[in-house]
Amino acid sequence: MATIVAPATDNRPETGAELLVPVPDEDGAPFWAYAAQGELRVQTCSRCDEPRFPPRPCCPHCQSFDSRWQRMSGRGRIWSYVVPHPPLLPAYAAQAPYNAVVVELAEAPRIRLVGNLVASADAPLRSVDPARLRIGAPVKVTFHTMPGGVTVPRWLLERP
Ligand SMILES: [Zn+2]
Repeated sequence: MATIVAPATDNRPETGAELLVPVPDEDGAPFWAYAAQGELRVQTCSRCDEPRFPPRPCCPHCQSFDSRWQRMSGRGRIWSYVVPHPPLLPAYAAQAPYNAVVVELAEAPRIRLVGNLVASADAPLRSVDPARLRIGAPVKVTFHTMPGGVTVPRWLLERP
């Protein structure tokens, strides 16, 4: 999917620190390409229709190598979350307190994506008060293009 993270080269806030950005791999490249178009899509088996994540060549359910990229509604629920505490990388320490959420997708509850809950697509990572985080809270996807050019899904509360 994105097994390596690299510093965003032109993302140097006042701290001089860098946020990490995904580096798409071959299997995950379509996920990021669709995200750049504002679409959340999940690799789905063309034979048994089971979605799978992270992307990989072979279906773990029926072993088929045929797949498609199924568009999701972008709705889901917070399945889990953390509010990271120090020690943090400098770029993240500058943005604390922020959250990392695990979202289960409405159409595919076994598919869970890690991201950040924010107040709007381009808002700072710390734009949602951690006290507002709740397991089960309905969320919807939005997309944020990072300084390095990679577009990542982010999450908004359905009832802000
Ligand atoms: Zn299958």
